[in-house]
Amino acid sequence: MFNFEKPVICVSKCLGFECCRYNGTMSKDDLVNNLKSYVDFIPVCPEVEIGMSIPREALRLVNNGDNIKLIVQKNGEDFTEKMLRFTASFLDSIPKIDGFLLKSKSPSCGIRDVKIYSSNEKGASCDKGSGLFASKVLTRFNNAVIEDEGRLSNYNLRELFLTKIFLYSEFRRIIELGSVEALLKFTEQNKLLFMSYNQKECKTLEKLASNIDVFNFHKAADEYQEHLNNIFSRSARYTSKIKVLLQVLQSFKSHLNLKEQTFVLEVIDMYSKGRIPFTTPLYLIKSYLVRFDCDDILKQSFFEPFPQDLVELRDSGKGLCN
Ligand code: SF4
Repeated sequence: MFNFEKPVICVSKCLGFECCRYNGTMSKDDLVNNLKSYVDFIPVCPEVEIGMSIPREALRLVNNGDNIKLIVQKNGEDFTEKMLRFTASFLDSIPKIDGFLLKSKSPSCGIRDVKIYSSNEKGASCDKGSGLFASKVLTRFNNAVIEDEGRLSNYNLRELFLTKIFLYSEFRRIIELGSVEALLKFTEQNKLLFMSYNQKECKTLEKLASNIDVFNFHKAADEYQEHLNNIFSRSARYTSKIKVLLQVLQSFKSHLNLKEQTFVLEVIDMYSKGRIPFTTPLYLIKSYLVRFDCDDILKQSFFEPFPQDLVELRDSGKGLCN
């Protein structure tokens, strides 16, 4: 069991904190609820912060040819300037942050796929983009983890999000400390996790970490962050996860009899064919590491990249097993 520091995450307030949606309701979100014990949330409702009431008339994004405007659909009142002013001062005021978890499809908070209309009149949308608050978050926080709750019903995206917020939070604290030793330890403890996402970038990070000293720390840390972003720019491929499992297997294989070895390989094969989730071979291998006292390998974050209480197998679509 690892000790995880709490990531600092800015969250749309309507995701389980307050009934502040335009119709006076909130969106119940199981993930946000489960995360409350593990994350320091900063809830915000940009629409209420700019003085709108609960309930209120719905807003929409309108492209007037030059700019995207935030308009009250019913009467055309324009809240663009108020929203831009609030967003700038709010983003200036928040402390060091590891990520944002925002409400999908909202004209203020949605990070993608928000409907954009050509006018305030009734009619179909003409484009899609980001909500006004979210668009400023996206341009300003290049290194933060930014997601909407809708996408996190997908198992792989949820696993990636959870992995990143805990990892990035630890990395941020190391940078604040300016500790070369802590960065080397971070690189070592996350080695198998990095490999399971991107072998090439993992090697680059190891090389970078081994060349860092106190004099070039912050410059090298910026470069480190870029490669970290590359590693976690997509979910881990199942083939890379299997490579890591097979590599770990080598460390205790000689203690297993032939039947046990065959069984482990069969379980990995079932995972590769999409018949069982990744947690099955992972926990099987982990049980042998515990049995054979492979404590150094057990310290690898690959075996627990985020708190185990947050592991949840529900999935909105494809990809549960791979
Ligand atoms: S989506 Fe954003 S602006 Fe809309 S109610 Fe939720 S927190 Fe408020």
